[in-house]
Amino acid sequence: MTKLRVYEDTKALFHLPDGVIYLDGNSLGALPLGVAERVSRVITAEWGDELIRAWNSAGWYVQPRHIGDRIARLIGAEAGSVMIGDTLSLKVYQALAAALDMKAERKIILSDTGNFPTDLYMAEGLIGTLGRGHQLRLVAPEEVEAALSEEIAVLYVTEVDYRTGRRHDMAKLTANAHALGIVTVWDLAHSAGALPVHLAACGADFAAGCTYKYLNAGPGAPAFLYVAPHHAGSARAALSGWMGHAKPFAFELAYAAAGGVERMRVGTPPVLAMAALEASLDIWDQIDMADVRARSLALGDLLIAEVERRCPALKLVTPRAHARRGSQVSFAFGNGYAAMQALIARGVIGDFRAPDIMRFGITPLYIGEGEIVRAAEIIEEVIAGEMWRRPEYQVVNVVT
Ligand SMILES: *Cc1c(COP(=O)(O)O)cnc(C)c1O
Repeated sequence: MTKLRVYEDTKALFHLPDGVIYLDGNSLGALPLGVAERVSRVITAEWGDELIRAWNSAGWYVQPRHIGDRIARLIGAEAGSVMIGDTLSLKVYQALAAALDMKAERKIILSDTGNFPTDLYMAEGLIGTLGRGHQLRLVAPEEVEAALSEEIAVLYVTEVDYRTGRRHDMAKLTANAHALGIVTVWDLAHSAGALPVHLAACGADFAAGCTYKYLNAGPGAPAFLYVAPHHAGSARAALSGWMGHAKPFAFELAYAAAGGVERMRVGTPPVLAMAALEASLDIWDQIDMADVRARSLALGDLLIAEVERRCPALKLVTPRAHARRGSQVSFAFGNGYAAMQALIARGVIGDFRAPDIMRFGITPLYIGEGEIVRAAEIIEEVIAGEMWRRPEYQVVNVVT
C-alpha cells in the first residue's frame, strides 16, 4: 500500500466549501472528491448499461463482503469477519439478538447512560419481541466495570460516548466480561476511522458501526457488523433475510443460515451508497490509523487549550487523558444551542447535543492546526461577544 501523509496528502482529496471550518465529521464526514465520479460510473456504466447483469459482472453481490474486509483492517478485525449493510440501528439489533441467544439462561443486558439512544431503543424492541423476560440495565459509564457480574448476559456499550467523547477501555472490559461468562457487543460509531480499534486482539465477540461519520461515506451509507470468527458459524441471525441464506438462489422455502458472517446479510444491499463508500475507502486503504490517532490527540489538545484560554464560560466535558477519549472535544455551555448556531453562521460547523453540549469533531484527514486555531478565534468572538443572544440563533431546527 502506498501510504498517505495524514492532512498533507489527504486534505486535497476532500471537497470542503470555502469559508467553512468543518468540525462535524463525527456526525457526517466530508465528501471525498472521488465519490461523485465513482457513483456516476456505477449509475451509467453498471446500472445503466449492465442492468441486472451487474450483480455478477460488476460484483454487486459480493461487494458487502469485500468492503467488509477493507473496513476490517481499520478496526483490527480478521479478514472475512465483517459484513456491510443496513443501518447501524439494525446491526446492533442483530448483534444483540445473536449475543443473547448465546446466553439463554441469563436475562440482563448491561449498558450505560452514555450510550446512543437508538442502541437502547433497539434493545427495548428486541426484549419485547423475544418476550423472554430480558431486562436492560443502565449504569453510569464509570460504573460499567463494577456492574459486571454473573447475572449479566451481554455487555452492550458504545466505545466512545457520542456526547462527551469519553472512551471505554475495550481490552479491559472485554477481558473482565469474559471472565464472568458475559458476551460483548461493541458499538464503534465513534471509533471506526477515529482511532485504532483492535477487535481481534481484545477478543470482542460482536461489534457494529456506521460509515457516514469518520469514514466519510455519505448520508445513509451502510453500516458494518463484526462477528468473531469462532461465533460466526453458530450465531443466530435474528433478521433471517434471503441474502443471509446458505443458498439464496435456490429459493428454498425454509431458512438455512449461510456459513460465517455472510448470514448477517439481510436483503438487497444499497449499491449506490456502497459505491460512495468504496470511493471513500480508496483513501482509507492508504491510511495508517496510528497516524490518524497521533494527529487527532494533538489537535484535540490544541482545541482544548485554545478554547479554555479564550472562553472560561465553556466547561470541558471530554476527558483530558488521551487513553480515555475518542476524536471529539465537547464543552458544556447553557446557551450551547444558540452559540452553535452563531458559530455555524460564521463558518465553524460543529453540532449540539441536548441538554447543553457543544461538540467539535476532530477529523485529521482534512482538519489541521490552522483550522483549529481559527475555529477557536471564532468561538471566542461568539462567546465573549455574546453573539448567541441574537434572536435568529434561538430558533431550534429539526436536526441539531
Ligand atoms: C450515530 C450512531 C447511531 C446511528 O444509527 P443509524 O441507524 O445509522 O441511524 C447509532 N449508534 C451510535 C452509538 C451512534 O453514534
